[in-house]
Amino acid sequence: MKVGVLAVQGDVPEHLAVLRSVVRDPIAVRTPDDLASVDALCLPGGESTAIARGIEEAGLWAPLRQRIDDGLSVLATCAGLILLARDVAPSTAGQDPPTFEALDVRVRRNDYGTQRESFEAPVVVDGIGSKPFPGVFIRSPRILGVGPQAAPIAWRGDEVVGVRAGALWGLTFHPELANDLRVHRKFLSTVVARA
Ligand code: GLN
Repeated sequence: MKVGVLAVQGDVPEHLAVLRSVVRDPIAVRTPDDLASVDALCLPGGESTAIARGIEEAGLWAPLRQRIDDGLSVLATCAGLILLARDVAPSTAGQDPPTFEALDVRVRRNDYGTQRESFEAPVVVDGIGSKPFPGVFIRSPRILGVGPQAAPIAWRGDEVVGVRAGALWGLTFHPELANDLRVHRKFLSTVVARA
């Protein structure tokens, strides 16, 4: 199985470091050829507007949309979730990025306010065991609504902080910064390598 991390901006090395503990030779995806070679992709946290621009500049927008439509497994964290979201509610974060509109959620960027825009909190994640996952939230989007095509998979208290729609996973927190492999491991256990 070949796994990549979209490498235009954001916490790419952190995802690669986690992946190296779980799979052989994960790659940084920078070109359409890189993208064509992977069975699964992490969309990192970072700045969603910068990542959207970088995707466009690298000629990756149309190929990535095609791979998503074809069922590519994607683990999208924080800014990555924003890029997959069906709908981005207006926020004070500035100009919102275009998105792939692939994951049936409505999100709002930077929605935790200045005091708490970065914090750690325990998160319950479906299928990784009962021990709470250390949720690292950094200027995170909030999930305002989950549509019928997506299902909640992670909660901070009563609040949904992660969703899944088939092969697409979107989390408002950063498992790549948590020193805990369980989310990446669980995600990768669902990936079917192409022949
Ligand atoms: N606030 C960022 C954005 O809106 C996301 C933050 C993150 O990925 N840690 O793009």
